[in-house]
Amino acid sequence: MPNRLKNKIAIITGAARGIGAKSAELFAAEGAAVAIWDVNAERGNTVAQQIQSAGDTAIFCKCDVTDATQIKDAAQHITSELGTPNVLFNNAGIAVVGELEHISEADWDRQYAVNVKSIYLVSRAIVPLMREAGGGAIINMASESAYVGFPMHPAYTSSKAAVVHLTRSMAVRYAEDNIRVNSLCPGTINTELYQEFIAQQDDPEAVNREIEAMHPLGIGEPEDIAWAAVYLASDESRYMTGAPMLVEGGILSL
Ligand code: NAD
Repeated sequence: MPNRLKNKIAIITGAARGIGAKSAELFAAEGAAVAIWDVNAERGNTVAQQIQSAGDTAIFCKCDVTDATQIKDAAQHITSELGTPNVLFNNAGIAVVGELEHISEADWDRQYAVNVKSIYLVSRAIVPLMREAGGGAIINMASESAYVGFPMHPAYTSSKAAVVHLTRSMAVRYAEDNIRVNSLCPGTINTELYQEFIAQQDDPEAVNREIEAMHPLGIGEPEDIAWAAVYLASDESRYMTGAPMLVEGGILSL
């Protein structure tokens, strides 16, 4: 039986679909008890039920990761249902598309609230619990966009660069608490988020071809990233902290 995450109690935010949902499935299959936090209750419950049907452990909790009150309630929920969390995957994210001159202030603020401020809010609630548990691992979802100045979504790219650096700061601070903090930087992954982004382009097929050609290994699948998250959550990565883990199909080697 696979057990790379035996004795791990994991929170995965934004796990109702896409990379988060696949990570929840693989984390649970590797022995973790998983709490899925998402705003999408219907899809989140479905993911939890599928994991339970496979004989693994998962619960769903409706939680908007930009809302401190909901995060506090969700933290109490996981602690009473599964135990004290020792893994946190801050995966929830949105992609605001639009050139700098055309993005509204509200969209800019929303981009940073979901992609960056949520990491502060959720980690603020969970770090004291992890410390109490003797340590843990935090994974913050960044992106290839942290390193590439994609012109069509400056709010998104800059938010992901902020995640990489927030991670470094957290890693240095919490090493003494035996809490490791790493960021994960995927290339372009075939999820609904990506399909929605492509659909907003004037010529979706041409943009898809262009993006595929930018990656020596083409466009990736959620599983490609979920396995990297399993590694970062596991004790196999015990000497890694503050690192941006690149799983980007080679785009940054061009
Ligand atoms: P997705 O849109 O398929 O899934 C994101 C999930 O986050 C959804 O279930 C959504 O309901 C949830 N979510 C959004 N706002 C939330 C909030 N305020 N509170 C709680 N949950 C919320 O996206 P994905 O493609 O699986 O991406 C997951 C993460 O990976 C994101 O942070 C994204 O920026 C990052 N990423 C994706 C790609 C890609 O190409 N797909 C590449 C690099 C990084």
